Amino acid sequence: VQDTFLCVKPDGVERGLIGEMIVRFERKGLQLVGMKMITPSRSLIETHYAEHRGKGFFNGICEYMSGHPVVAMVWRGVDAISVCRTVIGATNPTKAAMGTIRGDFGMQTGRNLIHGSDGPESAAREIGLWFRPEEIT
Ligand code: ATP
Ligand code: MG
Repeated sequence: VQDTFLCVKPDGVERGLIGEMIVRFERKGLQLVGMKMITPSRSLIETHYAEHRGKGFFNGICEYMSGHPVVAMVWRGVDAISVCRTVIGATNPTKAAMGTIRGDFGMQTGRNLIHGSDGPESAAREIGLWFRPEEIT
């Protein structure tokens, strides 16, 4: 059993898709063990996306993710990290399979609705960055 970090991005919140997304993970059989709505600072987002520092889209993604409400969540289950990435779909929503969140609801890589940790190290790092231990069931 693994824990993974998911974050409904500002476009997902603005479009009223929080419930739609949560339903999909619950129906799949994952367990929601931590959740909060917050407006992340620029520095939190820069730390969260530190692996992308120096890339052309880094400033854009920081502008997009900072200063607007997001929903940070921790989900638990067998192979939760890869299962959640499968439910989310490919980074570019125009390429993501229909039936995935990004495939069903998105059209732009820079507005791809939800983040999911990409491996065990990033999941542990991101959960520790966004949550205190007592905030997780
Ligand atoms: P995330 O980490 O948000 O779950 P991902 O793992 O599918 O997405 P990454 O390669 O980690 O994709 O990129 C992080 C985020 O940066 C993407 O979700 C997207 O919002 C943005 N991004 C990545 N590549 C581009 C690009 N070429 N143009 C614009 N934005 C991009
Ligand atoms: Mg990523």
